[in-house]
Amino acid sequence: MFNRTRKLLPRGTAIVITLGVLLLTYQIVLAYYLLGGKWSGFPQYYIRSVSGSPGSYISIIDSAVGSWNATPTKARLYLTSPNQESIQITAAYYGSPANCNGSMIVWSGCAYMYPNPYDGIYTYGTIKINRTVIEAYIYSGIKTQGVVAHEIGHILGLGHVSGQALMYSTDQRYDWWYIYTPQADDINGVNARYP
Ligand SMILES: [Zn+2]
Repeated sequence: MFNRTRKLLPRGTAIVITLGVLLLTYQIVLAYYLLGGKWSGFPQYYIRSVSGSPGSYISIIDSAVGSWNATPTKARLYLTSPNQESIQITAAYYGSPANCNGSMIVWSGCAYMYPNPYDGIYTYGTIKINRTVIEAYIYSGIKTQGVVAHEIGHILGLGHVSGQALMYSTDQRYDWWYIYTPQADDINGVNARYP
């Protein structure tokens, strides 16, 4: 029965189907992913705080913000004084594993947007940078900057993608691809979110 059905298919069919699947995969891999929520506009203002000895965290955070401000997008985040901020970036010893938005996992960075990451207009965002993990695994300065830049991507409304972009979910983006700053796909995503 199955053999008969297969014989009825023209020879080229399998190749065409394979190509079709490949093209589809290619599209999915390269496409940015939008969480659903967004800011009403830019600029937005951030503060940063570091618990424990500050080391180079302050300049690393500012460099990560700068990497987004340098993109050809509308996203612009400027430093402000406490109580004026819409985004708070904190580097602290959160432990490992630690709670990130309800999940106990090992994380170097975690972001959340209020009132809802997945819908409506954001009014506040928090980024946590986990010194416990970063220092246990001896992240370099540029790798730490990449963690902050990735979390800022979430703050802007981007979700994870499966290709070579800043919004790839794991450390593979630094350790295999040396990605520390917004890439074309990340920029396309922010431009789609804020045309
Ligand atoms: Zn992420």
